[in-house]
Amino acid sequence: MSQSLVIAIDGPSGSGKSTTARLLAEKLQIGYLDTGAMYRAVAWEYLRTGGVVDDPDAVVRLAREADIRISTHPDAPLVKINGHDVTAAIREPQVSASVSIVATNTDVRRILTKRMRETIATHNHRIVVEGRDITTVVAPDADVRILLVADPAARVARRAAELGEQVDPGSVTDQVIRRDADDSTVSNFTDASEGVVVIDSTFQLPDAVVEQILRLVDNLPSDR
Ligand code: C5P
Repeated sequence: MSQSLVIAIDGPSGSGKSTTARLLAEKLQIGYLDTGAMYRAVAWEYLRTGGVVDDPDAVVRLAREADIRISTHPDAPLVKINGHDVTAAIREPQVSASVSIVATNTDVRRILTKRMRETIATHNHRIVVEGRDITTVVAPDADVRILLVADPAARVARRAAELGEQVDPGSVTDQVIRRDADDSTVSNFTDASEGVVVIDSTFQLPDAVVEQILRLVDNLPSDR
């Protein structure tokens, strides 16, 4: 059986995690798991079923019972929850604005963390996993652990470019800065824990970031 190669990448929104993680998985021909998509899918289902902000028990029940299917192919994204294909819908601003309700619930985090670990195991521990707490909680024993950071202005500009012209700049800033503030109440993705390599993508293109991570992979001990 092949040797394990779990690459954990954390960072705030707009730091370039998804692009980097997907490119890496393609180059290394291993799996790719977007853990934010799992939180987003639960938020989407919560909104669809008429969830209200202050019903944590309902969110937990939903997370526990939901059938979440997520593609781990880096070039074929697919996210389904309870039979609904939500691949595109989970990127909508309403979901981005509500996802923190789901992500700040510690019971939901436990449930989704378990599912993430199951996915890592299903891939024989050969997968790139990106999120906010992968290096610290989900896979602290990953072979390579990265914290990807970038200046707030660069992150807002990237997210605005992704969302297109019709988007209101205030809502993009909210999606990036306010969401980071909410998210950081439950996971610390601004300070690297021991053994985590910090990469600043503010002035780097994704390919350059990927090259740095590939060098770390090349330097891994063969008897790990
Ligand atoms: O990465 P993305 O912006 O798609 O993540 C959506 C949301 O999911 C984040 O704002 C955060 O609230 C939550 N999240 C998390 N822990 C992770 C991944 C995402 O709390 N490991």
